[in-house]
Amino acid sequence: MKIDWTPITKVVAEAPDTYTFHLALPPEFTWQEGAHTHLALEGFNAGDKPDRSLVRHMSISTLPHEGAIGITTRIKSECSTFKSILRDMVPGDKVALFKTHSNVPLERSGKNVYLLSAGVGLATFRPIVLEYLANGEGVPHLHSLNVDSSKAYLFGDVFESNEHFTSEFVPSRKDYYERVERMASDKDALFYIVGSDELLRETIQVLRTNGVACDNIKIDKHDFQREDFLG
Ligand SMILES: Cc1cc2nc3c(=O)[nH]c(=O)nc-3n(C[C@H](O)[C@H](O)[C@H](O)COP(=O)(O)OP(=O)(O)OC[C@H]3O[C@@H](n4cnc5c(N)ncnc54)[C@H](O)[C@@H]3O)c2cc1C
Repeated sequence: MKIDWTPITKVVAEAPDTYTFHLALPPEFTWQEGAHTHLALEGFNAGDKPDRSLVRHMSISTLPHEGAIGITTRIKSECSTFKSILRDMVPGDKVALFKTHSNVPLERSGKNVYLLSAGVGLATFRPIVLEYLANGEGVPHLHSLNVDSSKAYLFGDVFESNEHFTSEFVPSRKDYYERVERMASDKDALFYIVGSDELLRETIQVLRTNGVACDNIKIDKHDFQREDFLG
C-alpha cells in the first residue's frame, strides 16, 4: 500500500469549530471529485498493527487544480484523540494519506442531480459543484440541499445559486426531509447522499418510499456496503 506523508500548508477557519487543512500535493497524487482518503497521524503505523485511533476517512474538499488537498472537518471542544491532535497541528507538520478513491464522481448521463448532505458532509460535494460549474455537460440541473443545525453554512462562495445550479441550506432535519420528499417527485434524477449512516438510511427510506429506484441513489460506500444500505 502506498502511503504519502505530506505537510500541512495552511489551516483555514471556515465556521465555528470547522477547519480546512490544506495539504501539499505529493508527486503524482491525484483524485476525482467526490473522493475520500484515509488521513492518518504520526505513529499510526509504528506498531505491528495500524493504530486505528489515529486514522479517519476524510473527503477531499478541493480539486487538483486548486493546488492543495483540502480536508474539512469539525473539531468541537469535546473530541476524539484524533481530532485533538489534529487541532494542535500547524503548517509544516506532516500527515499520511492512503487509499484515495471516489465512489461518487459526477455522473453526466443527462439526468438532474441532487446533492443531499448534512453539516460538513458538504465538503464531499464542493469539488463536484466546482467540476459542474466548470463544465455542465450531461447534467441539465444540479441542486444542493444541506442541513446544518449550527446554521454556520459552509463554502458560501461556491454554493451560490445560478441558472443551472441551485443551493439550499436548511437548519432542521424536519425541513430537510420535507424538501427531500418534494425532490423525489423528480424520479428519473440521481440523488447523492453524504452524512452519518443514520442520515443515509433515513434519506434512502424517504426516496424509496416516494418511488426513487435504488440505481438512482449514490452513496459514498463500497459496493459490498451499498447492499447493506440499499438491499
Ligand atoms: C467516506 C467517508 C468520508 C468522510 N469524510 C469526512 C469529512 O470530509 N470530514 C469529516 O469531518 N468527517 C468525515 N467522515 C467522518 C470521519 O471519518 C469521522 O468519523 C468523523 O469526523 C468523526 O470523527 P471522530 O471519530 O474523530 O469524532 P469527533 O468528531 O471528535 O466526535 C464525534 C462526536 O462525539 C463527540 N465526542 C467525541 N469525543 C468526546 C468526548 N471525549 N466527550 C464527549 N463528547 C465527545 C463530539 O463532540 C462529536 O459530536 C467521513 C467518513 C467516511 C466514511
